Amino acid sequence: VKTLIAAALALAIATPALAQNAAALRDAALKDDTAWNVVRSLTSEVGARPAGSLAAARARDWGVAKLRELGFSNIKVEPYTVTAWERGPESAELTAPFRRPLNILGLGRSIPTPAGGVEGEVVVFASYDAMLSATDRQIAGKIVLVNQPMVRAQDGSGYGAINRNRTQGASEAARRGAIAYLTRSLATDDANNPHTGAMTYAAGVRQIPAAAVSVPDANVLADLAAKGPVRIKLSMMSRTVPGAPAWDVSGEMIGTGRPDEIIVIGGHLDSWDVGTGAVDDAAGIAITTAAAKIVGQARPRRTIRVVMWGAEEIGESGARYGRDHAAEVPKIVAASESDNGAGAIFALALPPGTRTKPEFAELQSTLAPLKINVVAAPATGSGADTAALHQAGVPAFSFDQDSSKYFDLHHSQNDTLEQIDPGDLAQNVAAWTVVLHFIANSTVDLRVPAPAR
Ligand SMILES: [Zn+2]
Repeated sequence: VKTLIAAALALAIATPALAQNAAALRDAALKDDTAWNVVRSLTSEVGARPAGSLAAARARDWGVAKLRELGFSNIKVEPYTVTAWERGPESAELTAPFRRPLNILGLGRSIPTPAGGVEGEVVVFASYDAMLSATDRQIAGKIVLVNQPMVRAQDGSGYGAINRNRTQGASEAARRGAIAYLTRSLATDDANNPHTGAMTYAAGVRQIPAAAVSVPDANVLADLAAKGPVRIKLSMMSRTVPGAPAWDVSGEMIGTGRPDEIIVIGGHLDSWDVGTGAVDDAAGIAITTAAAKIVGQARPRRTIRVVMWGAEEIGESGARYGRDHAAEVPKIVAASESDNGAGAIFALALPPGTRTKPEFAELQSTLAPLKINVVAAPATGSGADTAALHQAGVPAFSFDQDSSKYFDLHHSQNDTLEQIDPGDLAQNVAAWTVVLHFIANSTVDLRVPAPAR
């Protein structure tokens, strides 16, 4: 009984202290410029850094040096190999009814065109479904363009809704006899700025070259095609590199009370080859690294590990991390990836039952000044690189960021430092700081499911 009372007393004292300390760290985080300096350093000193490139090796060295500089321990480089994809010279040109250059970017994993390019008539569909219901006669021997606009939405849901246009379109067009596939960029901007991204070929289907067209150029092609035959010539010289080296870089703020209980957070260090990968995902690296540093300096009970995953864009680092850390899963008490840009956070989702735990009672009021709601629906995942951990049973917490401008920039030349609002970036760091402080210092075990009520 005595120990029970002592435990209850400790909890009663600890609970307000948890919120008070979190509020103090939140206010410190809002004034802290670590995240901004990290994004600036990575985007200017390394720049674009696709997995498998020489720049990715420089990013690895940058990550190790940065974690050391910021006071992390247990700094590790975990090497593995990936099938990398390297863009080569690319061009596209309208050849009929008149000649005019077109703004395109080849899609990641696309095969190259034959030397000399591929030329053909363009058939335009207003939506992906319209292409799927077209007859082979409409498509055979032609270059397909799916010109479906993307919806701008705070929660970024417009992207998921048309993701298959980019990832699966080439194989669907090829099944119907197309010779090449173009998608209107999965983007919300109307700049003459194509947006790339990864695609895959369906097994057993003929592989055809695939590229993204800028929004204005996709509209031009659609307008012209409505009036008469339109022809374009596409030339892409990409290369697939099996067995290319990649690395995850990690460092820890070691817990003072329960060092063997680890919170895994981070972002992905790789980026596309255009722009400087500022919002995708130097921002995620910066937000999580800065928050871990701030919470780490306050000597948390649990360990916080920051991972800089090395091959998210080509879809390889998440599964790899889950596989290589399977034995460690019982020690990982929570995980979350920041990979939705640098827009302000507006919602937080926690593992089932966490929100109503007494020790978390003041989490909502601590986040309120940052204009963040703790939502009732539990988190189901957090990012591609943590998906395998969550699948293995590691609880997820996840932040919703304002994504209404993210897809103006995403995977394009315009993804640069200048597009990041320092105030929004600091708001992210403050939110992560608060939540990390609660998880790292409470006695709550997020892995224990809430009792049914
Ligand atoms: Zn990303």
